Amino acid sequence: MSTKTIAVHLPDGAIREVPAGTTPLEIANSISPRLAAVCVVARLTPVTGTAAEQPAHDSEPAEAAMYAAEDASAPRLVDLTTPLTEDTRLQLVTEKDPEALKVVRHSAAHVLATAVLELFPETKLGHGPATDSGFFYDFQRDKPFTPEDLVLIEAKMAEVVARDDKFVRESEPREQALAEFERDGDFMKTHFVTKFTVPGDEVSFYRNGKFMDFCRGPHVPSTGRVKAVKITNLAGAYWLGDEKNPQLQRIYGTAFFNKKDLDAHFARLEELAKRDHRLIGKQLDLFSIQELAGPGLVFWHPKGAIVRKVMEDWMRDECLRRGYQLVYTPHVARVNLWQTSGHEGFYSANMFTPMELDDASYRMKPMNCPFHILIYKNSPKSYRDLPARYAELGNVYRYERSGTMHGLLRVRGFTQDDAHIFCTPGQIEGEVAACIDFAEAVLKTFGFNEFKVELSTWDPNDRAHYAGSNENWDLAINSLDKVLKSKGIPYKTIPGEAAFYGPKIDIKLVDVLGRLWQLSTVQFDFNLPARFELEYVGEDGERHQPVMVHRALFGSVERFFGVLIEHYAGAFPLWLAPVQVGLVPISERHHAYAKKLEAELKAAGLRVEVDDRNEKMNGKIRDFANQKTPYILVFGDKEEAANSVSVRARAKGDLGSIPLADFIAKAKALVEGQSTEL
Ligand SMILES: [Zn+2]
Ligand SMILES: [Zn+2]
Repeated sequence: MSTKTIAVHLPDGAIREVPAGTTPLEIANSISPRLAAVCVVARLTPVTGTAAEQPAHDSEPAEAAMYAAEDASAPRLVDLTTPLTEDTRLQLVTEKDPEALKVVRHSAAHVLATAVLELFPETKLGHGPATDSGFFYDFQRDKPFTPEDLVLIEAKMAEVVARDDKFVRESEPREQALAEFERDGDFMKTHFVTKFTVPGDEVSFYRNGKFMDFCRGPHVPSTGRVKAVKITNLAGAYWLGDEKNPQLQRIYGTAFFNKKDLDAHFARLEELAKRDHRLIGKQLDLFSIQELAGPGLVFWHPKGAIVRKVMEDWMRDECLRRGYQLVYTPHVARVNLWQTSGHEGFYSANMFTPMELDDASYRMKPMNCPFHILIYKNSPKSYRDLPARYAELGNVYRYERSGTMHGLLRVRGFTQDDAHIFCTPGQIEGEVAACIDFAEAVLKTFGFNEFKVELSTWDPNDRAHYAGSNENWDLAINSLDKVLKSKGIPYKTIPGEAAFYGPKIDIKLVDVLGRLWQLSTVQFDFNLPARFELEYVGEDGERHQPVMVHRALFGSVERFFGVLIEHYAGAFPLWLAPVQVGLVPISERHHAYAKKLEAELKAAGLRVEVDDRNEKMNGKIRDFANQKTPYILVFGDKEEAANSVSVRARAKGDLGSIPLADFIAKAKALVEGQSTEL
């Protein structure tokens, strides 16, 4: 028996001298049996060298990540029963650690495979990794699994969990393992072993009960720890993605440490599906994307267009109020312009390919900046003209791979509420601060009270993607940094995320479901003024180069609209609602009163729709309610005689009869105040 002693460094700085072969579970038990009971796995980091950060994980689980050898110096997760053989740092990973969730999900994949083989022993196994939202396992079986099979499999999984079999690691020589897999016709396992191990290796297996799987681990200590698991769907996939290969059946599922988290996960998915802007966009007839025209190109229908008009009117008025000047510019320009701006070199992969005309080659604009620069450059400027703030709701076109588009959120053509501010170096901080105030006003007005800020900086070693000198980058980053600090805004610095021409501040809003959305951005630029040789005459009578701020606050009008739809689930605040007031005459003899009401409400600036179809009153009320109309006014003899309306407010119900004038005054005040109340 070995008498070797090893040093185990614990996170609190304590060092335990233990005999080699001691397991993390034994150490956990020696600290406290209660700790041992909630541990999932252990994280080991070599003592030599600095403790590295956890490596980033790919969102797509690659085969290699499942089986290939890891970087020896990186932290690695091991089973609690792994014998420790040399000095190491040890962190006991509990259910709270995000990595632990992946371990339980992968262990759930073993439970799934166990259940499938017990029910359908002829099945051949592929692999079963954890994913960002759960896990899957690939199976090869001639007969397709039916929905009834999936119910049986889930029930069998519950049995496997109830047995609480330990996950036991075993190993055998590679050649022996290969021979066994080949004998049993396990072609997928043969592939994985051949690909990810080399001759002479020992191959690791995990056993739970009678079930064995080739796997590197780690797993939870026993099947009983897979407490909350559910099969979610079944999909077909070809082995190795090649349609000449056998077809596999991929069963997806998800797992959590407890039933409460599992239920919350499905409740959230349901809520997300209900709020999907593509679904609501169709239900409320707001917009469409048309196959004949191409993906990522948005058609705004009348009801969506009216919301857009309100958004744009608000934005243009606010720009004018804040000292901007409005401009309009073309959608295309000669390639020469994009060469001068640098887009041709730094950004061409994101641009539509050139169009050959008789005089030159042209490209659709991916950004508005060079156009605003040409306006600036068209006449001499003095310091008295600065800052010059040009704003435009400009349509831009960016190339996205077909198949990657997503509703209004990822598109090929969109409208930026774009502005470019040309100013002296001394004005830069004041301008950036004003842009941030403006961005906050946009988010608050449209109903978002929480946001997060990031400062994106460059990567000085990546000269291929960033233009400009070190000094200029330092200066630019420092000035953005200073503005955020002086405004007391907490922020995170993200290196390597800047635009090619300068650093930027990104403002991410938080929606009603707690999701983060990147919309507003304020960017500093010293490059384009130099590339276009911009000038102004200073107080000293000399020529100087201005600096530029690029900023977009909605970001993309399309994307912002998509986020608004999901945030409000289509129930827009009164000031944004496509139809603000629905009119429901009780019978045909009230149509004249309906006309009178419509005229008065319209005169008050409200958007009104009359339902004078020959339908039942309740059906009309239901239709307006399904359209999420904020106010539905119902009227008959009594209301007509009193010049009043009976008011139903969305989500509030029947408010009773109100004199028409009072209703109009109330609605107008809510619209003017951009209120979210009714
Ligand atoms: Zn495994
Ligand atoms: Zn720009």
